[in-house]
Amino acid sequence: MNVRRAKIIATLGPSSNTVDVISELIKAGMNCARVNMSHGTHEGHKKTIQNIREASRLVNREVAILVDLQGPKIRVDKLPEALELKAGDTWYIGHSAVIKNYPEHKNRFIPTIYEELVSDAQVGARILFDDGNLEAQAINKTDDLLEIKIIEGGILKSNKGINLPNVKVSAPSFTSKDEEDLVFALEQDIDYVAISFVRTVDDIKKIQNFIKAKGHDIPVVAKIEKPEALENIDDIIYHANMIMIARGDMGVEVGNHLVPSIQKDIIRRCNLVGRPVITATQMLESMIDHSRPTRAEASDVANAIWDGTDIVMLSAETASGKFPMQAVRMMGQIMIEAEKNPKDRPLLRNQELVGVTQTMQVAAALVAEKISAKWILSVTETGRSCFKMTRFRPSTRVLGVTRSIQAVRAMCLYWGIAPFYLDSKGNDLESVEKEMIEILKQKNLVTKGDKIVVTHGRGSYFNEGSTNLVRVEEIV
Ligand code: PEP
Repeated sequence: MNVRRAKIIATLGPSSNTVDVISELIKAGMNCARVNMSHGTHEGHKKTIQNIREASRLVNREVAILVDLQGPKIRVDKLPEALELKAGDTWYIGHSAVIKNYPEHKNRFIPTIYEELVSDAQVGARILFDDGNLEAQAINKTDDLLEIKIIEGGILKSNKGINLPNVKVSAPSFTSKDEEDLVFALEQDIDYVAISFVRTVDDIKKIQNFIKAKGHDIPVVAKIEKPEALENIDDIIYHANMIMIARGDMGVEVGNHLVPSIQKDIIRRCNLVGRPVITATQMLESMIDHSRPTRAEASDVANAIWDGTDIVMLSAETASGKFPMQAVRMMGQIMIEAEKNPKDRPLLRNQELVGVTQTMQVAAALVAEKISAKWILSVTETGRSCFKMTRFRPSTRVLGVTRSIQAVRAMCLYWGIAPFYLDSKGNDLESVEKEMIEILKQKNLVTKGDKIVVTHGRGSYFNEGSTNLVRVEEIV
């Protein structure tokens, strides 16, 4: 049984979207597979989602599926061939359709898919291409063309990202592509949705309402990468179901030098209110090409754990890298080592206790610590009571026992919870508990003399929202 507390998301892509590789990723410790809507087709994503479920079935372990919506990502359009931008040269940028009006600029034109780029950007604005590797400044503008001077040159290829730091981008956070992608995603068997380039809390509410109106109940992950999101961070943390520190675009937007302190600050704020938080991007970047990470990358993963992150994420390492399994395995090893020093990670013991369920879950965690229990069995219908326990960072291992597959998958991302599917037919306390303890014995998770702490609702084991019993059992 896996003793790692924080969880791992691995992004799937050409290196990893087959049943065979996904099965190996699950065995290596992936808790959640990320399907990135910035690339690929619906047909391809559908196949990937089916492959994830098939791999889970084959290795007998559930994982969550996170679908990541692209948001208003500004990109270079398709280019007949790559462009060489030299420092000091002047180029023109505008929506792809306008070049027909400017034949004199056709050899110095960068087409973009974003129609409002010229109206959004003012003269003087910084324009960054390809993850910030190339930089330009706007020096002139007409109605539909921006004249730019190249500051940092390089080769620019089709579809590369464009960032406009400090420019108020007028595109909605939930674009028409996102809407189509979300409708598609909701028709699939998925567990979480992430939204990119969040700026205000309204961006999150819009998606939450959209999901609800379609009759679904899927948690929304807010990706924090824009300076505007940082200005509204407490509101966003309050309303989102989960937060992702999207260090890739964040680094481009605010500068890499600010990313570490922003990471620590967001994790601290999330920990304080019990909002799960993902630390993402370039965690083991060198493993795209190498079978081992750098020391700095190993330290980055460990430090994220000590900061108090609930989840860490791999992107290109598993999506397009040469060593996807090794990356997941290595990440897990670093995390387990970091978690051996609990004094270096925050214990969230000063939280306010709200409601009966949370109070009982925290009581169970304290009882388990005091009696050195082997396990806490937190019996849950939807996973919500386990969610309340993760906020307390219990030091005893917790089994989230449920007979709902959806709850098992949701709990895959909960810090410290090992989801446990119980295919129980009964509903009375005594028979279900006997059944559970028998399974634990068979799996060698408990032996004679061990103590376990059980929490559950009154009257029926799998009653939602009603944890009001904490009991100690000694295994005979
Ligand atoms: C990021 O920018 O860090 C990120 C996670 O987003 P994406 O991978 O979608 O660019």
